[in-house]
Amino acid sequence: MSAEARTPTEIREAVRIAQSLADEMVAHARDDLPNECCGMVGGVDGRARTVYRAVNAEASPLRYSIDAAEQLRLMREIEEAGEELVGIYHSHTKSAAHPSQTDLNLAGWPDAVYLIVSLADPESPDLKGFWIREGEISDAELVVE
Ligand SMILES: [Zn+2]
Repeated sequence: MSAEARTPTEIREAVRIAQSLADEMVAHARDDLPNECCGMVGGVDGRARTVYRAVNAEASPLRYSIDAAEQLRLMREIEEAGEELVGIYHSHTKSAAHPSQTDLNLAGWPDAVYLIVSLADPESPDLKGFWIREGEISDAELVVE
C-alpha cells in the first residue's frame, strides 16, 4: 500500500529508541520474572529518552496494570523532565511480542506506542512496538539506534 492511500490515523512517525533503553526494558523484564513487568517511556519528538519502571499492580505472569496513583506520579516525572509520554512497555514472559486480547482491551493511550518485550526465547529477547487505537493494532516502526 502506498503512503498516499493511507488514512491519516495510519501515518505514524517512527519511534526512535537507543539500544541502551531497549536493553533496560529487557533487564526489567528479566528482573520481574516470573511476572510481566511494565513501565512508561518518556521522550521528545518521538525519540525515547528515559525508561520509567512501574510496579505491575497485577503481579501476574499473564497481565499487567499500572496503579492509577503511580501513573499520575510517573506522568508528573515525565513532565518535570521536559519529556512527553512516548510509550508504554510491558513484557511477555512466554508468548511472542504481540498484543494479547487483554492488552487490546486495556489499551487506553492511543498516542503512545505499546512496546512489548518477549522473553519467549530467553537467550534472544524480542522488542516490538504497536499502535493500539480503537481496538485496532498496527505495527509501529521502531528504530533501535
Ligand atoms: Zn501483553
